[in-house]
Amino acid sequence: ELQILRAYCVSRAASEIPFGPEEAGRSKAEVAELGVPSISMPTRLDNRILDLRTAANQGIMRIQSAVSSLFREQLLKRDFIEIHSPKMIATASEGGAEVFRLDYFQGSAYLAQSPQLYKQMALMGDMGRVCETGPVCRAEPSFTHRHMTEFVGLELEMTFMESYHEVLDVIEEVFLSIFDGLNQRCRAEIEAVRRQYPFEDLRYSRPALRLTFAEAIALLREHGPGVAAEKVAELEAEQAECRAKGNDERAQELVQIIGDAKAHAAGIPAHADDEDLSTKDERILGVVVGRVKGVDFYTVDKFPLALRPFYTMPDPKDPKWSNSYDLFIRGEEVTSGAQRCHNPDMLLQNAERLGVDMAPIKDYVESFKYGAFPHAGGGIGLERVVMLFLQLDNIRKSSLFPRDPTRLTP
Ligand code: ATP
Repeated sequence: ELQILRAYCVSRAASEIPFGPEEAGRSKAEVAELGVPSISMPTRLDNRILDLRTAANQGIMRIQSAVSSLFREQLLKRDFIEIHSPKMIATASEGGAEVFRLDYFQGSAYLAQSPQLYKQMALMGDMGRVCETGPVCRAEPSFTHRHMTEFVGLELEMTFMESYHEVLDVIEEVFLSIFDGLNQRCRAEIEAVRRQYPFEDLRYSRPALRLTFAEAIALLREHGPGVAAEKVAELEAEQAECRAKGNDERAQELVQIIGDAKAHAAGIPAHADDEDLSTKDERILGVVVGRVKGVDFYTVDKFPLALRPFYTMPDPKDPKWSNSYDLFIRGEEVTSGAQRCHNPDMLLQNAERLGVDMAPIKDYVESFKYGAFPHAGGGIGLERVVMLFLQLDNIRKSSLFPRDPTRLTP
């Protein structure tokens, strides 16, 4: 019924392309079935424009867009003011992590590692509730699946009346609304991602599961060794398979990995109530919470004070603990936050006790001198939320043009 009379070329493509969308859109299972080579992550990222053309990547980027718009919608609805804090700052002392320095006329400036101090100062300027979506730069030489040197922070900070739990309630509800919103608005995108990168739907409860740090450690001690032993058995099975297939390099690599996993498993039953959670502990805890409580999204509240930065408010009932929390998806941190000290004398005492030089951030301390509101907040990593919601194995897949210690292009 339709006859083509003429076809015009609007823009001619180069005759040789690094890879085509069909090739780039194959799942691991399809690659194995066809017996074709898979496209490596560096090749994909070097040719990100072509890589973005797959259905899964279109889905991931639309889901990323939906997460940031749902975040903004939820907060504006709750009377938050969207702010834009400076990203070039005068001192390197906003936090413990490394910062990027840049030339600033005759001197130097630093790229902001977090807008936290400015969010707090905005509250002291009577702004009540503030949020921000913006770049966060960290000069950490981290080569992991979940760290980049630049990521997008979804940030919020608010004053409260009685308890910092008013703020934690808002953060948890924002997450639940983001999950609901994605499931309602992005069904087609979620399925497009699942076709290439199979994953299980995220399980979450309303209200969200909230554990104290001590409760989380008790769960880890009770159920963690079993989960850790399963992991060791999986690794040993992989090692045996590698040996059988003659993949000696991987089999040898696994010797160290299995040794570490065994040593870690052996230490879990003795994990103290107030001992820090390592990345391995967090992952095992994620599996334990999933099995025992049936959810993949949860909060760990009341971290030991000694594990948190100097500006964290101690628990008034027991200063061994603090009014601080982390939120997790599938055993990985997506948010860190706390009630912050709003008393300048307390802030200075804490800083002195911990040997933190406050001179470079005196404006921050001053901001609490003229009447200060109790307040709390947190920062959410956008790409981490997308990665973990979709159970992707690498944060670079949920970043448009990822930046890491070895990648500044394209
Ligand atoms: P982690 O312990 O995972 O390194 P962090 O404690 O340094 O994280 P925060 O400084 O509290 O993290 O940052 C708040 C949130 O920002 C984190 O929960 C995470 O979602 C995200 N985030 C932190 N560092 C990175 C990074 N290097 N790349 C991507 N996202 C990050």
